[in-house]
Amino acid sequence: MDHTSTKTGEGGVILVSLEDLLNWAQRSSLWPITFGLACCAIEMMGAYASHYDLDRLGVIPRNSPRQADVMIVSGTVTFKMADSIKRLYEQMPDPKYVISMGSCANCGGPYWQHGYHVVKGVDRIIPVDVYVPGCPPRPEALIGGILKLQEKIKNKLTNSQTDRKNKA
Ligand code: SF4
Repeated sequence: MDHTSTKTGEGGVILVSLEDLLNWAQRSSLWPITFGLACCAIEMMGAYASHYDLDRLGVIPRNSPRQADVMIVSGTVTFKMADSIKRLYEQMPDPKYVISMGSCANCGGPYWQHGYHVVKGVDRIIPVDVYVPGCPPRPEALIGGILKLQEKIKNKLTNSQTDRKNKA
């Protein structure tokens, strides 16, 4: 068979734009920075382990923010930690995404009323792309959040993209 043919199918050629190819590669290899803040992080670790096996979705944790493009904020964001979280986020290269995992990261959780030491939502310090509800969310919920982020990247609806457009 002639492999330069433009027909699709076995031995054929698939035509795709470079932008779509990069988009596919990006959403299929989301690498979160490795850190956890509280009890939600245990569920996140469970999602990485063999039973749920996030690797099969191309989600592989990295130890340096400079090699990561996703931040999963899993746990209580205290004011003491807020500066460090912001600094880690700023050290990640663009394009980068944030998943807020659990009630604490979403809105302060059980500390929303009397937790003088807790930031009432991580979106007060960094932009969030996907919120995963629960206290704590199960690993399935986090996987659902990652699938939602992949869908948003596919449709180019992420906050970081919107931010760039607003700055332009
Ligand atoms: S949302 Fe619930 S499980 Fe998660 S860190 Fe807060 S208190 Fe812990």
